[in-house]
Amino acid sequence: MSGLYIHVPFCKNKCGYCGFYSATDAYDLTERYFDAVLKDLSARKRKKYETLYIGGGTPSSVPPVLLSVFLDRLFSIAGSDFEESTIEANSESITADFLSVVKDFGLSRLSVGCQSTDEGVLKLLGRIHGREDIFRAAQSARRICPDTALNLDMIFDIPSVENSVQMQTLADIVSLSPEHVSAYSYSFDTEYLKSAEPCGESAFIDVKRSLEAAGYHKYEISNFARKGHGSRHNIGYWMLKDYDGLGAAAWTLENYDGGRELRGKISDVSAYITDPTAYAETDRTDGVQALGQELIFGLRMLDGVDFSSLKYRYGDLPNIFNERIDKLIAEGMLTWQMERLKVTEKGELLLDSVQEFLWDCLP
Ligand code: SF4
Repeated sequence: MSGLYIHVPFCKNKCGYCGFYSATDAYDLTERYFDAVLKDLSARKRKKYETLYIGGGTPSSVPPVLLSVFLDRLFSIAGSDFEESTIEANSESITADFLSVVKDFGLSRLSVGCQSTDEGVLKLLGRIHGREDIFRAAQSARRICPDTALNLDMIFDIPSVENSVQMQTLADIVSLSPEHVSAYSYSFDTEYLKSAEPCGESAFIDVKRSLEAAGYHKYEISNFARKGHGSRHNIGYWMLKDYDGLGAAAWTLENYDGGRELRGKISDVSAYITDPTAYAETDRTDGVQALGQELIFGLRMLDGVDFSSLKYRYGDLPNIFNERIDKLIAEGMLTWQMERLKVTEKGELLLDSVQEFLWDCLP
């Protein structure tokens, strides 16, 4: 299985917490950028992909007519028979024309960045949409693209924000009945809001319990879905399957026997347009490091990692790795379920530390 990712690095405004590459002053380059992405695609070895993910940035913020021409050309090169095709959008730019493009090209998932339904929190995060935009966008999507599944993103555990405010966002999101919800814990990797106090563990548990009670299954550390609606493309990332990434700041992953190579594009719209087939970074991982990477990424999936498959491909785990796994099991962070190693609820809460503890012992 392999996925195709296309980065659309244009945003109307830069949100304070965002770590993704995007530009707010490059919309005049949109057409040339799309030409470059298609040139990049044409140069790829792989010609068939199971999943398509158009992310950003804000794909819904480019003129729908340009998006439509781009998708038409993209489908003529890569085919249109993806098993899953997702486009990201922000609610303020979800217009009837944008949704018509989603419908006309049969895109199967629309992923909307809501983050919060509280006006004060939206301002705090630097979002440019309001609460009402979210409801209007979700309802229009249902009306114009009834066959497209909806994912709504939210952020919880935001420093200085009361848990009750975040739970109201969750209730609002559930009221819109999306097929999929991504609930991200606020990133502390950023300087943004760094001085404020975090909310603590209860927010994680409250979000999980509430979404489960509403019929969503938690299948990944930040992702919940109704039956059959897990994101196949994103599952491919967590399982370190092959994907091609096109566009500025996009990454490509290619597995080979015993290892994998990650290649990244330059994080600059103009430089990418100048040479879309060039890579700015390459990182090769093999042997025990490749095995460790697969185990650590795989623990994000709540049904865990299949050890028989790992052993078949990489051989036995080094002793130090086995010792650390046993220690994490004794501490109630990990557990075995048949041949699968998975995180417990306690391990979910401390996943970063679990991953770091395992990664640290690799040679
Ligand atoms: S709209 Fe999304 S991609 Fe753009 S700056 Fe905000 S969070 Fe980042």
